[in-house]
Amino acid sequence: MSQKKIIIFSDLDGTLLDKNTFKFEAVEDYFRDLIQKGITIIPNSSKTEAELLDFNKQYNLKLSFISENGSAIHQLDLINKKLPNKISLCRSIDQIYKKFNETISLNIRQKIIFISSLNIEEQSRIFGLPKDKMLLAKERKHSIPIQFKGNEIEKNDFIKLINDVGLSVHSGGRIMNICDNTNKSIAMSKTIELIGKKTDDKIITIGVGDNENDIEMLKNCDYACLVKNENFDSSLINIDNLIKSDEPSPLGWSDVIKTALQKI
Ligand SMILES: [Mg+2]
Repeated sequence: MSQKKIIIFSDLDGTLLDKNTFKFEAVEDYFRDLIQKGITIIPNSSKTEAELLDFNKQYNLKLSFISENGSAIHQLDLINKKLPNKISLCRSIDQIYKKFNETISLNIRQKIIFISSLNIEEQSRIFGLPKDKMLLAKERKHSIPIQFKGNEIEKNDFIKLINDVGLSVHSGGRIMNICDNTNKSIAMSKTIELIGKKTDDKIITIGVGDNENDIEMLKNCDYACLVKNENFDSSLINIDNLIKSDEPSPLGWSDVIKTALQKI
């Protein structure tokens, strides 16, 4: 009989990490216990490769991870040496820009602020990051962070237009990202497919998120977990047996994971 291999796909900001301090000390021992017990944790974030490598380094972790809203999968060779170190699931930022420029009218463009066009102080303020961390957040290879200044109707029109030309828009906590036609869920499926080829174990997935850009991933998991986020209306989510926390991150993270593990 095959054994179970539990993989947790976790968003970081607002899910594992406190949404203001970006820390998770309160649950860090529990987080490390899970790894010790053989549970695989794969951060699945809108953060860049540079930020996620920094996360690993800062906490002395060796985690595989998914960057830029499902744009690329990294360091699967840490799970199995025969797996690739990096897999890109989308076009380059230049190609995404080109498509964007061909598609979006001047009228809509006037409502878009490209984060890259702002000075570093302004960028740091929007991301809530100190300057050194902001430099890592700027190292985008596959996604374009923006703020949209129009109303809801204009925003939905913009998203539809973007989707129609094979790109996508992901709304996280502080900004929106224009990406290729990928998301956290697609990258998660690809990751499971690759890991599955190298093991006879039955893979069981837990997904944890706190926002709109996590929903597809949660729908695709065996156990979907939502960490409380006061700025996100969870009543809009239609997922059977969704495990919700009463606390925000980081405490909410350990609460939902404990509940999910009890159910497995
Ligand atoms: Mg989040």
